[in-house]
Amino acid sequence: MPIYEYELNDDEPECQICTGRFDVLQETNEQPLDRCPGCGLPCHRVVSRASFKVRKGGDAQKAADKGFTTWRRAKAGEWEKVAGPGVDAIVGSEADKEAIADEKKPKKKIDLGN
Ligand SMILES: [Zn+2]
Repeated sequence: MPIYEYELNDDEPECQICTGRFDVLQETNEQPLDRCPGCGLPCHRVVSRASFKVRKGGDAQKAADKGFTTWRRAKAGEWEKVAGPGVDAIVGSEADKEAIADEKKPKKKIDLGN
């Protein structure tokens, strides 16, 4: 499973968990996150300067050495740490889980993004 890099949209993030940047292990067909699983602030997936950047899961420890924390989704709304200085697990609220469930419902039209 590849690791994707995310950054908070806010230039001066207040998140003490991700400190504004975090990695997430995701299947390639998963929707990008639009919120930090730690703090809920808006985020976006980072596309590297050179090209679309995907690191293999084995690099989670390398990422940790650079101060990134990698989580992977254990189940809907729950994340477990792979490596890094962040918290061991993140559990979303019931509202979060419901929102995730809603996102999984098929969309009727193609999402062109914003
Ligand atoms: Zn955060």
